[in-house]
Amino acid sequence: MMLYRGAFAVVDLTSIQSNIRNIRALLQPGTRLMVAVKANGYGHGATQVAHAVLSAGADALAVASLEEAIELREAGVNVSILVLGSVPWVAARVAQARRIDLTVSTDWAPILAEAVGCVGGLGRVLGLSKNDPPLGLHLKLDTGMSRLGFREMAEVTACGECIAKSESVRFAGLFTHLASADDPSSSTAETQLHTLSGLVSSLASVGLRPEVVHAANSAGIFRSTAFHLDMVRVGISAYGYPPSADVPPPVPLQPALSLYAFVTRVAHIPTGQPVGYGGTFVAPRSTRVATLPIGYADGYPRWLSNRGHVILHGQAAPVIGRVCMDQLMVDVTDIPSVQIGDCACLYGRYAPSEWTASRLWDAIEAGAGASGGSGAPRLVHFLDSYRQAAATAPVLSLDEVAQIGHTISYELMCALSPRIPRLYVE
Ligand SMILES: *Cc1c(COP(=O)(O)O)cnc(C)c1O
Repeated sequence: MMLYRGAFAVVDLTSIQSNIRNIRALLQPGTRLMVAVKANGYGHGATQVAHAVLSAGADALAVASLEEAIELREAGVNVSILVLGSVPWVAARVAQARRIDLTVSTDWAPILAEAVGCVGGLGRVLGLSKNDPPLGLHLKLDTGMSRLGFREMAEVTACGECIAKSESVRFAGLFTHLASADDPSSSTAETQLHTLSGLVSSLASVGLRPEVVHAANSAGIFRSTAFHLDMVRVGISAYGYPPSADVPPPVPLQPALSLYAFVTRVAHIPTGQPVGYGGTFVAPRSTRVATLPIGYADGYPRWLSNRGHVILHGQAAPVIGRVCMDQLMVDVTDIPSVQIGDCACLYGRYAPSEWTASRLWDAIEAGAGASGGSGAPRLVHFLDSYRQAAATAPVLSLDEVAQIGHTISYELMCALSPRIPRLYVE
């Protein structure tokens, strides 16, 4: 693990596990819990999150693409994985070989039509193998999101029949996605659920029964148990955030992701001195400026220029001037104790007070000697101070940061770049 730059994220897998247990407690015993680990586990690291949630009692995983699902299989994840996005049917055999379930939407209509007239049905036209277990297919319904899925009853029945009749495929699921479950003033989610139930009963009346019916994202889970059905698909709240500010989660959630950087420079500048590209900040007083080795290429958005703040010594230090690609500047005039090597929190849990750059460099150097180069053993000690402080440390919420840019916590998590090393607390 290379940490010499002094910018890193901490992913607290124990927080994710506690969130999973708390969310699980809202479900009926028979309801399955699927966790969305798409987009690299919302930036937290897909395989690390996958292993953590499975050991905390999750039943299945969801991703956006077949590529993401294959990555999990290659990391030794054996549970059921559903690809939520559109996958071309040419990839069906690859999915079957890896035991990855696919979503069937209207882009499959031509192959479904072809299967109807073909001996051997869908499995045959998809080129599936009889030697592998059947490919699991989840039929997607558009009940109000207008994104993916079938809308017409006739199409749904035809597709269901085609799947049910074919060899080498399983009618593994039927699902829809809620568009506004996080809005307490909207009844769209209830309308969607009603449409879904109608389609499920119509299918049942012609003898078609998917193995599981599912609809709820995090917002749906919290909205009402009526949305839980056979399985729920939790995303954002597994990572410790509510789906929106309007939805107070009914169980405690602990944010898992924190972003830190060590101060690389502290300087006094006189009144009138501009800061950063374009001089968009001009010191209104004699100012102490601290520089941090992190910027928009790391996922700290440029729209936080002159608007965001970081936490140093437990206090807010405003971002001044434009956020650069790899660095940014903050005003520490009112936090006089700040010096080179101090640890700033850009979001998440405030840094433990004993965290300084030299402590980390010492830990890496000692670890390198002790472990033949990986640096891992002593970093464990470095992270111990996080563990001890975490339970009581205040949090700079991603919701608060996101609000500045009129965006959502999801986008900031996903923006965290691969350039930032993730340290895992487990
Ligand atoms: C991402 C996703 C989820 C999880 O949503 P959250 O709001 O993060 O809980 C559930 N279902 C589908 C289809 C998704 O794409």
